[in-house]
Amino acid sequence: MAKQSSLHQQQPRPLLPNQRHSTRHHPRSQTNLQHLPRQTTMLRIRHPTRRPITRRHMGRTHRTRTKKRTPKTRHPRQKLMIFYLGTDDAYWLWDNTPPHPLFISRRRLERYKNLKPSNTRWALDSGGFTELNMYGEWRTSPHKYVALVQRYANEIGNLDWAAPQDWMCEPSVLAKTGKTVTEHQQLTVNNYLTLKTLSPTLPIIPALQGWQPDDYLRHIEMYDKAGIDLTKAPTVGMGTFCRRANLKPVHNLVYRLWENGLKMHGFGVKQDGLPIMGNYLQSADSLAWSLTARLAPGPLCGTQHRAKKCSHCRTWATQWANNINNNIGTAGIQPELF
Ligand SMILES: [Zn+2]
Repeated sequence: MAKQSSLHQQQPRPLLPNQRHSTRHHPRSQTNLQHLPRQTTMLRIRHPTRRPITRRHMGRTHRTRTKKRTPKTRHPRQKLMIFYLGTDDAYWLWDNTPPHPLFISRRRLERYKNLKPSNTRWALDSGGFTELNMYGEWRTSPHKYVALVQRYANEIGNLDWAAPQDWMCEPSVLAKTGKTVTEHQQLTVNNYLTLKTLSPTLPIIPALQGWQPDDYLRHIEMYDKAGIDLTKAPTVGMGTFCRRANLKPVHNLVYRLWENGLKMHGFGVKQDGLPIMGNYLQSADSLAWSLTARLAPGPLCGTQHRAKKCSHCRTWATQWANNINNNIGTAGIQPELF
């Protein structure tokens, strides 16, 4: 708990490993990151936007001055997060009017001999959680994975990005692999380096894994030592988000990393976390609609269909995703304030 409580501290704010701070403040000496080496690279800091101030004068509008918005008064991000609707039914990629971007597992797509161009943007899940739970290791080689991603990018198209072959850190997965959080993190970094070496141009993203919030900060340091500045990555996957009871430490971690310029995708984010985290994530995905339907006593979509439940119902999935989109960022408060 002591580690988590440090996330609530307002002053001084702990820094990411590659963030330079002014000589006026020395937060490193007072935080749990004091063991980290000083870095020379500058972290991309979000600059306060300038908003023109106008006033009415003699019936005409003049731009008179600009006023800097300080971080303290900055409102959470204005642009809505992209929500990728997770589905086991990969053929939704080829529906005529796909209402939401899709999140599809490589394990599902491998069943298709023939592929064709998709009408919707989508992202590829590597299927790591299932593979590690089944075998306790990755049996799909990086060479094979890169070849699959290349095929999907060529033949389906509209691929926003693909997850790496990362190593999740849920206790159940650790029990299956017999490895530690640190080992999973290092294997995840190694895999990303391998995949990018095999194909530098494919949109394969780096992913952060961990269990405690500090684990994620240490993982950032591992990437940094490997020469990868995550603040420059177009998307950084945030793994091991679901399957935990207390989400508050996760909310605070996401807020801290957002403040420091990480553009994050939350893998499998819980629905009730998005009113808050939606302000700070670039994107997220969830397949929870299907489980909800499976546990329900009957259909949920309000329409008639043969299936007794809506666990594969496109109508229900769309209704559920619409509700997600309506609630993104509605909390409108900073996680540290509660
Ligand atoms: Zn239905």
